[in-house]
Amino acid sequence: MSYPFSQQYEEKIRPCIDTIDKLRSLGVEKDLALPAIAVIGDQSSGKSSVLEALSGVALPRGSGIVTRCPLVLKMIRTKEEEGWHGKISYQEYVEDINDPADVEKKICEAQDEMAGAGVGISEELISLQITSANVPDLTLIDLPGIARVAVKGQPENIGEQIKRLIRKFVTKQETINLVVVPCNVDIATTEALRMAQEEDPDGERTLGILTKPDLVDKGTEGSVVDIVHNDVIPLTKGYMIVRCRGQKEITDQVTLNEATETEKAFFKDHPHFSTLYEEGFATIPLLAEKLTIELVYHIQKSLPLLEEQIEAKLEETQKDLEAYGTGPPTDPTERLGFLIDKVTAFTQDTFNLTTGEVLKSASDLQIFPEIRKEFAKWKCVLDNFNIQREVGNYEDKYRGRELPGFINYQMFEGLVREQIKQLEEPALKTLKTISDVVRKKFIQLAQCSFIGFPNLLKIAKAKIEGIKQEKESLAESMLRTQFRMELIVYSQDCTYSQSLHDAKGKLEEEEEEEEEEEEEEEEEEEEEVVVKYFIDTVANSTGNHATLHEMSLHLESYYSIISKRLADQIPMVILYLLLQEAAVELQRNMLQLLQDKNAIDDLLKEDYDISQKREKLLNRQKRLMQARSILIAF
Ligand code: GDP
Ligand code: MG
Repeated sequence: MSYPFSQQYEEKIRPCIDTIDKLRSLGVEKDLALPAIAVIGDQSSGKSSVLEALSGVALPRGSGIVTRCPLVLKMIRTKEEEGWHGKISYQEYVEDINDPADVEKKICEAQDEMAGAGVGISEELISLQITSANVPDLTLIDLPGIARVAVKGQPENIGEQIKRLIRKFVTKQETINLVVVPCNVDIATTEALRMAQEEDPDGERTLGILTKPDLVDKGTEGSVVDIVHNDVIPLTKGYMIVRCRGQKEITDQVTLNEATETEKAFFKDHPHFSTLYEEGFATIPLLAEKLTIELVYHIQKSLPLLEEQIEAKLEETQKDLEAYGTGPPTDPTERLGFLIDKVTAFTQDTFNLTTGEVLKSASDLQIFPEIRKEFAKWKCVLDNFNIQREVGNYEDKYRGRELPGFINYQMFEGLVREQIKQLEEPALKTLKTISDVVRKKFIQLAQCSFIGFPNLLKIAKAKIEGIKQEKESLAESMLRTQFRMELIVYSQDCTYSQSLHDAKGKLEEEEEEEEEEEEEEEEEEEEEVVVKYFIDTVANSTGNHATLHEMSLHLESYYSIISKRLADQIPMVILYLLLQEAAVELQRNMLQLLQDKNAIDDLLKEDYDISQKREKLLNRQKRLMQARSILIAF
């Protein structure tokens, strides 16, 4: 069969279809729906038969569920001399087909690939493009037939699955619904027509196609004619009736061209249906013509909406693009500038972080609350420390030949040294905890600052790690030195005298209070009670009460001095090395990166995902802008 290039066709129809084709070949279908015709119908109603009659190529068909994926059949009519050309594509796969006879096999392979060999279905599209002089300019989508009951091996809800898939297409305003109904069933009860009516209640986008007129029940021909005359279930687009090859004709290898002849003869000579033929309601070629006209009409109607959609989509794309940023510039000098800006913003923020100022990049990142908490914990350790722990062991461990009442200074020093050593590990623990906090915060900052630049982030992380190690071990050695210095028992004379005086005053006060409360047996702080107990028992047995009393006074007074000293000194070391010095060192390290001009490209290499997404968006933007100008030109 062939379709004449009429005057009207060249002037009106062709440009319209060409416009949509151009949009389609730009890939605009990825962004919005283009006008299309979807073929729906119950199983074995003759959908694939109609499609193959229109396209001139054999499609998989027969009984049962044969169409298992939506098949987009794009037909592009060319001049006779250009010959036949086919192309099948699905997912990432594209293959040229040079022989119409291969189409059926290729589609079966594609379906097996997408829906699995067997009887399952898939929502993934298979695209078959046919370029030939003998096809109408049309794009049709063949859908799986509506099944009422699942056959062996099919999921229970296969019917629902198929309906959902069909609904996806039928709902779209851009789709013309081609509802295929065989003449030998009760048309009013067909599921396909019911679905089309649901989605398109006024029947504006629905065209009915009656098939298998040769199988009509004798005596019911009149009602078929009524249906085609739009008298039974009226549709704005009306009905057409066609006759395709039956199973026997396929077995007998009747060609599609012969079938067209048979069809024409069938209608012409039919006692009931010849009127339909004369009125232009019958045969595949007339259907093709009607579909083309309908599609063109539909396209013309859809164009304003399409323009609106393109505008909206463009705007959305623009917004998304802004969110992804422009990425690094391509010009080498500009690239260096871009890198410098990134790195300096980061180093400035590290300073802001270590001084507790507001950050530019990650405004909610803070380091001081956590550090202050750790310092408070350290203060707690010092406050709860009991310098007098060993006083009770005085007789056994420390007392020499001296008579009771003689205070031994060496023994005092010994006790102090022994005790102060106990504070070294908690101090180092504080250091380590804070060192980890600082590292964590620096890395978080780097992550915010170098979003999308994995290489830059990796290097920054490595630098942070290195600096953390270095400064931490420096701080550790400073703390250890501090504790070695503490072995020199020292304080200014006046400081110590004052402290001793205070301690004596406090003790006297306590003793007075105690006397008052003696009868009441009030609970006192456990530690004090324990110490008192030691001193008392030891003193009673040796008569050394005064000496021990004196000793504990001295220990208390001296400890009140060192605990103040350490409460500040340890945090000072940590703040100096782990915050201040670390930030300076990090800045130095980061700025050094800028010196190696060859490394810039590597540092600015973008995260694959981000550059991919930006690329995609840019492509879409380009595509939509082209689409817009195509529509404007039309
Ligand atoms: P689908 O499941 O809706 O795609 O239906 P098919 O196109 O596979 O057709 C189902 C069966 O009906 C096939 O065996 C076709 O040969 C047969 N068939 C389709 N149209 C006609 C027709 O007009 N007349 C006759 N006799 N058989 C037809
Ligand atoms: Mg089919």
